[in-house]
Amino acid sequence: MVKITLTHKIRLKPTYKQENYFRQACGVARFTWNWALGEWKRQYEAGKKPTGLGLKRQFNAIKPVEFPWMYNVTKYASQQPFIFLQSAFKRFFGKKANYPQFKKKGIHDSFYIGCDHIKIEDKRVHIPKLGWVKMREALRFSGKVISATVCHVADKWFISLNVELNQRPQPCESQAVVGVDLGVSRLATLSTGQKFEGSKPLKKHLNKLKCLQQQLSRKQKGSNNRNKARIKVARLHYRISCIRQDTLHKLTSHLSNNFAAIAIEDLNVKGMMSNHVLARSIADMGFYEFRRQLGYKSQMRNNHIEVVDRWFPSSKRCSRCHVINDSITLSDRVFKCNNCGLEIDRELNAAINLESTVSSTGFQACGEKGAGPDSCRDETGLNEAGTKPCTDLYTF
Ligand SMILES: [Zn+2]
Repeated sequence: MVKITLTHKIRLKPTYKQENYFRQACGVARFTWNWALGEWKRQYEAGKKPTGLGLKRQFNAIKPVEFPWMYNVTKYASQQPFIFLQSAFKRFFGKKANYPQFKKKGIHDSFYIGCDHIKIEDKRVHIPKLGWVKMREALRFSGKVISATVCHVADKWFISLNVELNQRPQPCESQAVVGVDLGVSRLATLSTGQKFEGSKPLKKHLNKLKCLQQQLSRKQKGSNNRNKARIKVARLHYRISCIRQDTLHKLTSHLSNNFAAIAIEDLNVKGMMSNHVLARSIADMGFYEFRRQLGYKSQMRNNHIEVVDRWFPSSKRCSRCHVINDSITLSDRVFKCNNCGLEIDRELNAAINLESTVSSTGFQACGEKGAGPDSCRDETGLNEAGTKPCTDLYTF
């Protein structure tokens, strides 16, 4: 059976001394990464084939003499970067990521701690060479902690605990099928008629953010006031991302808890982001994050996710008679069918079309217990099953 691992990110309440340790450990991790990346580049240019392990050996040989201050913090801070670098290059050579970059102080500061060095007890965590640090809440999952990462966001410290669950979460009991239409004006419309408005936190806080950024740009470099202004901007960015995450978690949890099969459109987010008019609103909705959350939650609860080909005319097809209405434009909020006379909310029509791709194709054939074609249509009573739309089937 595949083990499920989940991450719980918990805010820490470090003392002044503990914060100093965190800063030091982040510095060690950053220094090591930069050293390793620099050495990798140098060796590569000299025609050698560097590896993470080889660099680590080389580093450990000079560490006691050249970098004795590294022994003040957990050994992982100066060991793990080599493993991270190795996998960063693996992703790069596999064309899955860009070339690894040098790290800068104050940007994504973090350090890793291995499972053998971490102890959790109620609302506190034990960190090597530091002792117990208070946490804002207790660990939410029961299982084995396999690793931890301490990171600095805005002016706050967090620990992300990676936990291998003792027990697999209950699979979703419902047999219902749902289609989800994601949009820029409304976050999501479900084929059941439910609507999820997006919180659009960036749009709401944009003026405030611009104002804070302007204040920051006027402060003298290196000054104390500049640092204060920088923290204000970082805090607002953090708040915006929290609001966005919260909205998306509510939506993705609702979907994975209540529906056995979920049909979503394969949105071309990258393509849409290149449209500058829309880019900000799309980023504000967090479609990438939606896919990520739905991906892991559906794996946990055994939902079937059907990603419908982006060329499937979900918004142009009538959900009742399946005749395509080419004259509908982006500004039409209501879909009107010239063939059967159906008048329906545009997004709802698209969601029902997406839902119909599941009932007529893979879900039942995959050996899952079938949801009847009309299982969750009572509220709308609008669509018919039995068509064969052009969908690409795959689960992620
Ligand atoms: Zn029609």
